[in-house]
Amino acid sequence: MKKYLLLFFVILASALPAAMIAGTFLKSRAEAQPLQEGAGGKPRPEYSIQAIRYASAEDEVAGLVMGAPKGEKINIAMVVWLIRGGGRNILFDSGYHRDTFLKYFPSTEYIRPDEAVSLAGVKPEEVTDIVITHSHWDHIGGIDLFPKAVVWIQKEEYRYYTGDAWQPGGNHGGIDPEDVQQLVKLNTEKRVHLVDGDNVEIFPGIRAYTGARHTYASQYLRVEGNPTFVLASDNCYLYRNMAEHKASATFSDADQPGNIKNQARMIELAGSADRVVPGHDVLQFQRFPTQGRIAKIK
Ligand SMILES: [Zn+2]
Repeated sequence: MKKYLLLFFVILASALPAAMIAGTFLKSRAEAQPLQEGAGGKPRPEYSIQAIRYASAEDEVAGLVMGAPKGEKINIAMVVWLIRGGGRNILFDSGYHRDTFLKYFPSTEYIRPDEAVSLAGVKPEEVTDIVITHSHWDHIGGIDLFPKAVVWIQKEEYRYYTGDAWQPGGNHGGIDPEDVQQLVKLNTEKRVHLVDGDNVEIFPGIRAYTGARHTYASQYLRVEGNPTFVLASDNCYLYRNMAEHKASATFSDADQPGNIKNQARMIELAGSADRVVPGHDVLQFQRFPTQGRIAKIK
């Protein structure tokens, strides 16, 4: 009797198509964590990207699109972006919360960036990394709101704004001294990672690029995936900058051609202009599915 039972199981097992077993295995693996081969040969996660609007403000188009006629007003979005995948919650820029700017910058619908990120289901202490594009107060001012995050900033940006910018001949427009102090403090706590230059893979499938200065050494990101996106931050304020080939504000007038050149590079890196996400454009909350303050870029 036992012999027949064993034979029955042998027949049953061999009858199961191998593809079915393999299919089940592959499916469960894919569901657990969709991994692809990253640029560096390392597996890369398929990241999700959300734009989170923590405030709105009224601005002049001429201040955002170089050469635009004076007097035209525009409503802009104050945004942080949340990139999730591979066990990381990466924030791209950190917003601001200092009293000075709450008082003197006339924003509306403001909530603190950490509260805004919580709306996406990520608690402040769950943010693992913050990639800072540049040191302007509305981008770096929230680094102290996320107690466990490591801050990624360009090495030259860090060097300039913690030194030469405050020396005679230096330029520290838009930089808040308190933010600089916070940045130095985080560095002494080993929570700052300096990114050295252009085209550097900082996470599997996520690369930092430079070239559009905006500040002394700003950076933007390419998030590889299906599809790939480029997050520009202030290296491209609005969709209109790209469409009209007009520069965003730059470190000096001499940098304007460099900014325009980098907008073209962003489009090339993303594979399409509609996959370059500008820094302050409210249209990203219309072009992508949006609920409340959060747009699902992908
Ligand atoms: Zn800026």
